[in-house]
Amino acid sequence: MVNVVTKGSPAECRSFAQETCLQDLIIAAHGLHKTYDTGSVQVHALRGVNLEVARGEMVAIMGPSGCGKTTLLNCLSGLDEIDEGQVVIDGVVLHQLADDQRSDYRARRMGFVFQLYNLLPVLSAVENVEMPLLVSGVGAREARRRSMEMLDLVGLTDRARHAPGELSGGERQRVTIARALVNQPGIVWADEPTGDLDSETAGGIIDLMCDLNRTNGQTFVLVTHSDEVGKRAHRIVRMRDGEIVDDGNGPDNPQPSTTITSASSES
Ligand code: ADP
Ligand code: MG
Repeated sequence: MVNVVTKGSPAECRSFAQETCLQDLIIAAHGLHKTYDTGSVQVHALRGVNLEVARGEMVAIMGPSGCGKTTLLNCLSGLDEIDEGQVVIDGVVLHQLADDQRSDYRARRMGFVFQLYNLLPVLSAVENVEMPLLVSGVGAREARRRSMEMLDLVGLTDRARHAPGELSGGERQRVTIARALVNQPGIVWADEPTGDLDSETAGGIIDLMCDLNRTNGQTFVLVTHSDEVGKRAHRIVRMRDGEIVDDGNGPDNPQPSTTITSASSES
């Protein structure tokens, strides 16, 4: 359904953003290179990555530790700069935006379930969830209402006023998911969202993400080490040494029977 992009000339690059609008691609990344320069060593973490994701898809990115999965998520979501290439999110060329515009775009259109994005320990669950809404300028009362609705959806109504330290690992990750989704973002990025959880709790979290993907049509891009989690995605993208070695669209990877739902209202 989604083809690998192998374009190169400047003219082709220019038309790339327009093309992604014509196909229903929410993510179109072309020729991404990223090198970390630590002074003593240079790590070429992304070596010409091309990736397209259709609206409403749930994509799992898998590969050995250090192959560039987190770097790819950071570069696709605009959290990190790229050295070369282009990322188009829903028709917007991300790295052409000024820093504050990009932050604003992220806050309004993207949700993050990263282990680094920890919950604020001094705030209650509901206060953590409403943060992105308050940052986006939603009024306090409306923010509280929508956050309580979201906590209800992840099954945590009765934990709303608990601080993160009073919650189990699985409950905390549910709060993180509620916070990532409260803005109804078009795209949710998740970096090893079940990494620290026992298999039963992890299963519950992935069930929740699949439900949300189906019901709301939100696009999920998640990094995982778990074959169980990978199997639940529509497609597995495999990375090695900074490259995508299998984008999951080849003949050996038939599309699963799961239907991709239509877009959410916000995307
Ligand atoms: P993964 O998420 O697949 O484990 P990463 O994207 O975190 O891999 O890292 C890819 C490579 O880039 C690794 O070799 C890692 O050591 C290196 N790397 C990641 N972040 C940095 C950084 N901030 N500075 C220097 N090197 C980095
Ligand atoms: Mg990582």
